[in-house]
Amino acid sequence: MKQAVILFLVGWFVCVSATQGQTATGKSEPVRNIILMIGDGMGVAQVCAAITVNHGQLNMAEFPVTGFSKTSSATDYITDSGAGATAIAIGEKTYNHAIGMDADTMAKPTILEIASHHGKSTGLVVTSQVTHATPAAFVAHQPDRYMYEQIASDFLNSDIDLFIGGGLDHFTKREDNNDLTAFLASDGYQLVYKMKDLEKIKSGKVAGLLYDDKPPRYSKGRKDMLPEATKKAIEILSQNKSGFFLLVEGSQIDWACHKNNDKYMIEETFDFDEAVKIARQFAEKDGHTLVIVTADHETGGLTLPEGDLKSGDVKAKFSSLSHTGIMVPVFAFGPGSSQFTGVYENTELFFKMMKAFGFPLEQ
Ligand code: MG
Ligand code: ZN
Repeated sequence: MKQAVILFLVGWFVCVSATQGQTATGKSEPVRNIILMIGDGMGVAQVCAAITVNHGQLNMAEFPVTGFSKTSSATDYITDSGAGATAIAIGEKTYNHAIGMDADTMAKPTILEIASHHGKSTGLVVTSQVTHATPAAFVAHQPDRYMYEQIASDFLNSDIDLFIGGGLDHFTKREDNNDLTAFLASDGYQLVYKMKDLEKIKSGKVAGLLYDDKPPRYSKGRKDMLPEATKKAIEILSQNKSGFFLLVEGSQIDWACHKNNDKYMIEETFDFDEAVKIARQFAEKDGHTLVIVTADHETGGLTLPEGDLKSGDVKAKFSSLSHTGIMVPVFAFGPGSSQFTGVYENTELFFKMMKAFGFPLEQ
């Protein structure tokens, strides 16, 4: 009888500890996988607008751990997406427009590259061109975000296993007349140009260049590309028993807010939240996956002067056509998530991910 009780208690302790990413000795167990999800330009008001239209519910808002990230860059109170993503990717504040470089234009290893160095599979899924500032900051090292063709070349020099988004032209219609898709193919990437062809791929390296330039907005033909590609990316990357790092970006929340277009903004936030649902469902089943949902900065200076949770009506009022300095939310789920509570600089996201993965800071 006594033994049974002790066994039960030990079982319970191991069980509870495992869900918190701790071993029975209290030491943190490294997280196997991290899915980092960035809603570009997605501040608290954007999240709140989507919650209101959806009558009070949003997947990201159901994450158990919440925090705030401060987004200023090394040079400006208001960051751009290059510096914002680079801060998260390398753990250092840099100048606006930088891609994977510090304030002295020194290339620094990104969390994606470090994860790859430690034997993990890596990937990204975005609703912009794959060469656009946010994804670029995790893969490329260039002094300026608009050096799209050089950024495309950096994909070839990287170890990334999978990338899905737009921007095919940056690989094929280039000033140097090179067709980078030929190099990608000889590097072992399966080239995919249509969503229906992506569905057929079950494993291996993937270069998913689904659109010549920008993907269209959700309601103008993109449909469920982001959640579906996220699902496929997880299916492929999770085959590596050493784990994976996946970046998912809802790129167009920012573009909608630059246009002060509330319908477009809510549509894109919903779409991003569907990808969040896919990530969380995987993490719940897997038990070794940390999911982080955040933003690089707020866009539009959005506020909500009127709303109704019952009818789902919300009045969105923008105060800017550009980015603002407002803190952005961080939602975290899974082992290692407890360290994401509080208010901190965006650079801390890098160090928290490093710690969760159990990577030493000195490489
Ligand atoms: Mg972006
Ligand atoms: Zn922007």
